[in-house]
Amino acid sequence: MATDSNRFQAIISHCKEYGFIFPSSEIYDGLSAVYDYGQWGTELKRNIRDHWWRSMTQFHENIVGIDAAIFMHPTTWKASGHVDNFSDPMIDNKDSKKRYRVDHLLEAHADELEKQGDAAGAKAVIARMDELLAASDYDGLKKLIETLDIKCAISGTNNWTDVRQFNLMFSTQLGSVSEEANEIYLRPETAQGIFVNFLNVQKTGRMKIPFGIAQVGKAFRNEIVARQFIFRMREFEQMEMQFFIRPGTQKEWYEFWKEERMKWHRSLGIPAEKFKFHDHVKLAHYADAACDIEYEFPIGFKEVEGIHSRTDFDLRNHQEYSKKKMTYHDPELNQSYIPYVIETSIGLDRTVMMLLSEAYTEEDLSTADKKDSRSVLKFPAALAPIKLAVLPLTKKDGLPEIGKDIMNTCKGYFKCFYEEKDTIGKRYRRMDAIGTPFCVTVDHQTKDDGTVTIRYRDSMEQERIAISEIKNAVESKLKLTY
Ligand code: ATP
Repeated sequence: MATDSNRFQAIISHCKEYGFIFPSSEIYDGLSAVYDYGQWGTELKRNIRDHWWRSMTQFHENIVGIDAAIFMHPTTWKASGHVDNFSDPMIDNKDSKKRYRVDHLLEAHADELEKQGDAAGAKAVIARMDELLAASDYDGLKKLIETLDIKCAISGTNNWTDVRQFNLMFSTQLGSVSEEANEIYLRPETAQGIFVNFLNVQKTGRMKIPFGIAQVGKAFRNEIVARQFIFRMREFEQMEMQFFIRPGTQKEWYEFWKEERMKWHRSLGIPAEKFKFHDHVKLAHYADAACDIEYEFPIGFKEVEGIHSRTDFDLRNHQEYSKKKMTYHDPELNQSYIPYVIETSIGLDRTVMMLLSEAYTEEDLSTADKKDSRSVLKFPAALAPIKLAVLPLTKKDGLPEIGKDIMNTCKGYFKCFYEEKDTIGKRYRRMDAIGTPFCVTVDHQTKDDGTVTIRYRDSMEQERIAISEIKNAVESKLKLTY
């Protein structure tokens, strides 16, 4: 697992310097594992969200989208199993009082072994950990940590508590009285908003199985070990789709969605070798098969998306707790049943981080007589925060007016940006740094022949095109095929 923490740190700094992502409430020194998206990060995130939304609800005729509330009836989380099961095994170091997720501690140890050239040792640690987690053997996990002599990074000791489970849901009060009856949770996943609306959508949309319901929205988890930038946040956004199917067909649909989702990831212009499937050994309480799609971040291969075969677990439990029927009448079989579900669940913030990791490039442009370099974000043009920058060479001679006309022609079709300050070279570099794929420069020749220079971000090549061609030239590059 090759990691590159320098590159990772460089991306974090770049995000802050160029208006992509800021620590939340930074003037008060930030809030751990909570982040705010700045002007360009927000555009990037919105473009990814729109691409996902279109891929689900437009490309698949049998998928519709909803937008459920973050607050849900507290019994939802009893029925879903989150009250009893949504917890991670943790261990505390008695000297530093620092709390660790057990799997993270063991994975970090395996990474260390691998770095030292002991790949077999690393594999053995992960295999043993998976076994113990699958058996919920907490004594065994503690013993494994002690046997490997894993030490706390802060105290340097191996003085550990027992392994315990901690629930990850945030709770708050609904209404003014803080009684237990009013206690509700901030949703830890968006999926349950889909399950409780299953029949509303099926009936009002006259949906026939197989069909899917998609949703994008905020989710909240009190992550104990909250680090790694926007990879692990306490407030984050998920893009989830629940696909309702006939019982017994889950294996084929699970395989279908695995392939379909991998195809989507590749549609982002990321090479196939940067992805891999990771099949789960320990299945969540609701699943009969599950895997992650992992991307090779600078901090190693990590989960971006989970694909889960959830059986009829959720609908059956909601039926039991709500006493409302969750069955579907299948007209072809002339039978009623509780549908099975395949879920695809992707983190929007992790997808932002994946695109930033893939796009971030430092290029040495030095020549024999001059040192030079640039930082570029090589996003697919369709996802870039700004598509076109319009840059008059000077602030006079009527060039700004021509630039403004180009803005007015194009800004109704895609996001444009106008700038007349600083040298053209500096302006190009700023556009490279936020990933703008096309810049057009209005110069004196423009006045004579109605052409501008168009500059391409990745190759830095320039050519002259007519003003009347700009809109189509840019627009033709904004399609993401999926
Ligand atoms: P992990 O093992 O990394 O904690 P998970 O398996 O608990 O993740 P799921 O419950 O399957 O994650 O959630 C689906 C997706 O939501 C994940 O693949 C990830 O992209 C995203 N996600 C989950 N937790 C977080 C978080 N704390 N911050 C950002 N994204 C998250």
